[in-house]
Amino acid sequence: MGIRSRGIRRIAVLLSLALLIGAVLSRAPIQPLLSDASRYLGASPHERYAAELRLRRVASRIPGARRWSVPAQDVTAWLDAAEHALATPAAQRRTSFSTTVTLNAPGAAASWRFPVRRGYRLVVDYAAAAAVFVDLFDADSRTRLASADGRATVFQYDANADGDLVLRTQSTLDGGGDYRISVRANPSVQFPVEHLTPRAVQSRFGATRDAGRRLHEGIDIFAPRGTPVVAATDGWIGSSMTNGLGGNVVWVWSPLRGVNTYYAHLDRQAVSPGQRVIAGDVVGYVGNTGNARGGPTHLHFGVYVTGQGSVDPLPYVCGDACFGGDGSGRQEDGRQKTEDRRREKSRKAEYRIQNTEYRIETGPEHRQKLRGML
Ligand SMILES: [Zn+2]
Repeated sequence: MGIRSRGIRRIAVLLSLALLIGAVLSRAPIQPLLSDASRYLGASPHERYAAELRLRRVASRIPGARRWSVPAQDVTAWLDAAEHALATPAAQRRTSFSTTVTLNAPGAAASWRFPVRRGYRLVVDYAAAAAVFVDLFDADSRTRLASADGRATVFQYDANADGDLVLRTQSTLDGGGDYRISVRANPSVQFPVEHLTPRAVQSRFGATRDAGRRLHEGIDIFAPRGTPVVAATDGWIGSSMTNGLGGNVVWVWSPLRGVNTYYAHLDRQAVSPGQRVIAGDVVGYVGNTGNARGGPTHLHFGVYVTGQGSVDPLPYVCGDACFGGDGSGRQEDGRQKTEDRRREKSRKAEYRIQNTEYRIETGPEHRQKLRGML
């Protein structure tokens, strides 16, 4: 990434100086020029190009800088096209899609709105004949999440909330043409059972447990006893202990991603607290300890987001492939609402349990309290 930027930067620096000198000489108001110059420091390639255009819009007023100037109406049209595209994206029902973009005029823009689930790793891939800008936004807040520019690149973004995103692309004022762009929703963590795929997931997040008294706060992955269980993310072993519900369990704390992953019903653990692990390291072996005793051997795998409690691990380990390639995966409305409410309640309870589990390492009275909760 970072096309053209050195040349542009040089132009902008020269222009800024020329503008300031010109402004002083011509007694033009300096404040707007300064604010244009500061906008040049915009955080994304698109923002920097917008700032450059704003500078070049006023260059016609500066003696000696006229050859850099761009007609004011072209600049306004480009800025308007960017805003308009962000406000009126075409709807994509699926998270993963691939499309031909037609930017049929210099400065033209196009955009798509699509659903994502927390845990997807979005991979945006494009190849254009001329340089284009590509930006990913949160659909509601319009916060920019990731950016790219140039003729072709691949970039990724880990979705950390359920919701809709907007992907926008725009050519430069002297660009345009047709090109291909695709978005894929990949898994963002390592599958936690060695040699298996998401096909081995047989019980999903949110299924009822104990005659409806609680909801399943993870996914179950069925595998023969002794199959290696691996860390889904890089991190540290937060705890490796035994509790009534999960049996032999391991927590992996991944501060960079803000998640804790939970591995339960292990036949035995292979790590100790405080140990550093990288994704793919063996943390234990599949078993049926805890409340799975006597039942089929499986790994119970949970994902807990700091401050939010348990979330559905399936998008993390499967991308959108387990949701029919459809990021929304919505059920009928009424059922969904009831399910959402129950899940929220259960999440809060689970979060308390999780925090308790961290504290119990400090003493037996906490362990007793946890048993009561379970
Ligand atoms: Zn389970």
